[in-house]
Amino acid sequence: MRLEGKVALITGGANGMGAEEARLFAREGAKVAIADVREEDSKKVEAEIAEAGGQATFIPLDVSDEDQWVKAVSQVVSHFGKLDILVNNAGISGSGEKDFGSTEAWDRLMDINAKGVFLGMKHAIPEMEKAGGGSIVNISSISGFVGQSYVHPGYNASKGAVRLVTKAAAVQHAKSGIRVNSVHPGSMPAMLTSGPRGDADSQEARLAAIPMGREGRLIEVANAVLFMASDEASYITGTELLVDGGFTAR
Ligand code: NAD
Repeated sequence: MRLEGKVALITGGANGMGAEEARLFAREGAKVAIADVREEDSKKVEAEIAEAGGQATFIPLDVSDEDQWVKAVSQVVSHFGKLDILVNNAGISGSGEKDFGSTEAWDRLMDINAKGVFLGMKHAIPEMEKAGGGSIVNISSISGFVGQSYVHPGYNASKGAVRLVTKAAAVQHAKSGIRVNSVHPGSMPAMLTSGPRGDADSQEARLAAIPMGREGRLIEVANAVLFMASDEASYITGTELLVDGGFTAR
């Protein structure tokens, strides 16, 4: 198994890509902490993993709250004994916001999507140093590479921040054996906080802009995150992995 003996904390593990990563990591032998604001959904994922013979535990966490990060990391270490892998996946969408000039939306997007990643690394890295190293995978987006007409600019700013804070951390912690990389999904099933996706014509135009002509599947992103998290990526740090069906290659 590719993550045998590892302990992983996955934020936003209650739903979507985070839940898929939690299930995949557990199948690959990791003990998984599902950290999320959604208790009921997290516990469903925890139960699914247990039924399949894996190990998981729910940790309540709002990633924008530093005190909750302190508690969450200490809960993971007291429950599983150490921390090897952090997947900073929790996030909110920029497409649910109608007013692209909203300062409140800017603050919310930056707090959860960008500051949440900074705080996660800040509090996980000391534990990884104690464990002799680790791997951090930060989930950005194609929105960290290109602008889009249908999302609040704070989403692009937050995902661009994730891309660069990843490189800063990679450079600063390489000597401690901690690798830090970003994964950038393209068009995927809607987020819980996405706005309506528009009519059939706009859906068709969205898919037509993707060279592969289709949306990504949750497992296709989870497989990329698994690779980056695992020792198979042992000489890879500070890099960006686009999982976008060729969208940014055009
Ligand atoms: P999702 O909405 O299905 O899941 C996000 C999870 O994050 C939920 O479980 C939610 O409860 C949790 N979350 C939200 N705010 C939180 C907070 N403050 N603290 C803790 N948990 C919180 O979304 P998804 O599609 O699985 O997206 C996962 C990641 O991938 C996000 O960072 C998102 O920006 C990014 N992404 C999504 C898409 C897409 O099209 N779905 C594309 C590119 C990147």
